[in-house]
Amino acid sequence: MRENISSILNRIRNYFLEAFGFPGLNDYINLDSREVRKKLHSKMYYLNCQRLLAAMPIMFIINFLISLYAGAFHHSSDKIRFFYIFLSFLTIFALILGLITKLVKDLKHRPVLCRFLYLYFWMTYLLFFRTGIVIFNHSFYSGIWAVFMALFIALIPLLNDFESLCEVILLLVLVFTSDSHGLSNTAHVTIALIIIVALTQKFNYAMIVLRDYIQENTFYDKLTHLLNRKGAASQLDKCSYKFSKIRQKPISEFTYGIIMLDIDFFKKYNDTFGHDQGDICLESVATAIKHAVLGRSEVVIRHGGEEFVVILVDADKEETMRYAEKIRQSVLALEMPAPDTSVNQYVTVSVGIDVVDEIEDNQYTNVLSGADQALYKSKEKGRNQVTCYDPSN
Ligand code: GH3
Ligand code: MG
Ligand code: MG
Repeated sequence: MRENISSILNRIRNYFLEAFGFPGLNDYINLDSREVRKKLHSKMYYLNCQRLLAAMPIMFIINFLISLYAGAFHHSSDKIRFFYIFLSFLTIFALILGLITKLVKDLKHRPVLCRFLYLYFWMTYLLFFRTGIVIFNHSFYSGIWAVFMALFIALIPLLNDFESLCEVILLLVLVFTSDSHGLSNTAHVTIALIIIVALTQKFNYAMIVLRDYIQENTFYDKLTHLLNRKGAASQLDKCSYKFSKIRQKPISEFTYGIIMLDIDFFKKYNDTFGHDQGDICLESVATAIKHAVLGRSEVVIRHGGEEFVVILVDADKEETMRYAEKIRQSVLALEMPAPDTSVNQYVTVSVGIDVVDEIEDNQYTNVLSGADQALYKSKEKGRNQVTCYDPSN
């Protein structure tokens, strides 16, 4: 009996979801853990706040213009004019708050700040909305209704599908019963438009977050967050295009610096310190490589187990050599104890470099043989060094 009721309720819910099309993130991504869902929702709040941030200067200008208009043509009281000035300050404060939110990189605090900013903005907005209606309708009660409605609308993007649906129904009931309180037709239309915008935004952001989620899981390595082989091609394509624009040079004139590296004695590292510690070592090395080429290359690939490849777009041999050496030193500077101290007391990498004329279809694996041979030479010569490919050797 109980199960029947819950299945009927579920059907009704699905019917409404289908009919009104309010998909939420949970409907797309229900395979992953709560942790992942929480992360995705935080990202959605953040995107919402970015939208608000963009809207704020416009809100400020509207506030300002209306206060001029109200003052000049409507002989409004000082009280109302004071209210607009106050609102303008609130908007400026929200802008500052928004900028702080943007600057905060700490992911633990950002969602909290985002929510705060979001609510703050809508509180400001609904005060504005309310006062606007008071001025144009000369009716105090319609202003109060508007406050309720703006509050409801503001909450929509923060809620899940079912909650939003309930809210919209409630809102519609409010709109259709509010005539007696003097809400104008313009206000009805405005509210309807805002509902549509809020829902569309929610849907759009769900899509953006979903796209990023899929990209992250398809093109990036889970452990090191570097590109995997699949992700390398599209990233390389993007970077070549970007460099061609920046350097005003056709892609066909580029040469590519290939850096290939391999952690020394990594099997022994795992055997000595354990596989988990091995994973931590891989993560640290990946971060060190990324930082060493920061601002120069965004094509850093985990090629396999403990092998990495970095590609420098439009680079010659000297520059490639310089970055390869920088990477080698950055890994050494991590000062992670090595399992075999015959080369160094700290974990080291062996590096091989090569420069190629083109990478057909961005399939970098087809141009690795030179760098691979050079890497092998580095291992042979005693590891912890950079070797440049020499075809005559
Ligand atoms: P060399 O100095 O000649 O490169 O020796 P090596 O021991 O580093 O090379 P080898 O290719 O024999 O060993 C690679 C090891 O990397 C074996 C494998 O267990 C380990 N490995 C590969 N992927 C992972 C990973 O994701 N996590 C951990 N912890 N170890 C990994
Ligand atoms: Mg290896
Ligand atoms: Mg190795």
